[in-house]
Amino acid sequence: LLTIDGIWKNFHGRGVLRGIDLEVRPHEVVSLIGASGSGKSTLLRCVNLLETVDDGVILLDGEDITDPRVNVDDVRKRLGIVFQAFNLFPHMTVLDNVTLAPRQVHRVAKGEAEEQAHGLLARFGLADKARAYPDQLSGGQQQRVAIIRALATQPRLMLLDEVTSALDPELVLEVLGVIKELKESGMTMILTTHEMGFCRDISDTVCFLDGGVLLEKGPAEQIFTEPENPRTREFLRSVL
Ligand code: ATP
Ligand code: MG
Repeated sequence: LLTIDGIWKNFHGRGVLRGIDLEVRPHEVVSLIGASGSGKSTLLRCVNLLETVDDGVILLDGEDITDPRVNVDDVRKRLGIVFQAFNLFPHMTVLDNVTLAPRQVHRVAKGEAEEQAHGLLARFGLADKARAYPDQLSGGQQQRVAIIRALATQPRLMLLDEVTSALDPELVLEVLGVIKELKESGMTMILTTHEMGFCRDISDTVCFLDGGVLLEKGPAEQIFTEPENPRTREFLRSVL
């Protein structure tokens, strides 16, 4: 579904991503782990075309999305993105937040978009919040709405960057539950997380980034029980 082939990204002459190769298959959940500054968010931003790459290509459904002639909006239509900060529009109700992109970007009719939004809100336990404004919701509820909003455009691939790290511990579980349910529904995802237990539980593949290099990649169980690279071992020892 997604092929990342030899990606390089420099900031001010410093290599932040240094030759990343990664293949994401349909329905696969891939986690990026690594120390702060290792390049996890930058990699997601390259996939979302928020950053241009200095070398290498990224193929989404076989299409080279790093080609400068590519239609960025068209690429983003196929991606669902959720970041650490909730980024909901504060002056809009939950329902309007969720239906905005389907209506404006995908030209779905209002009635249809709202029907679909109500379905998603019900599925994730927020049926009674459709008319609420973001500041009337808990952090966990806001983040669930942000995930639902990303889902509303029926993306091919979800990119989730530290979606629980701004939350109080008691709210983390409800958001992790949503991601788990997404996995069960077959959604393809790339996520970054500092929640190692969750990472082990949900990921098919875990990638360890170190200084912009993808040092080790493997099935979650293997990375967590018998990592091959000494640096992976060191990192996991420091966070587990
Ligand atoms: P964290 O776990 O803290 O979120 P990360 O692995 O997501 O870290 P990135 O945000 O990808 O790390 O950053 C990788 C490196 O690139 C860092 O050294 C960061 O300072 C640098 N960097 C990221 N964005 C920019 C930018 N726009 N301009 C300059 N340097 C940047
Ligand atoms: Mg980051």
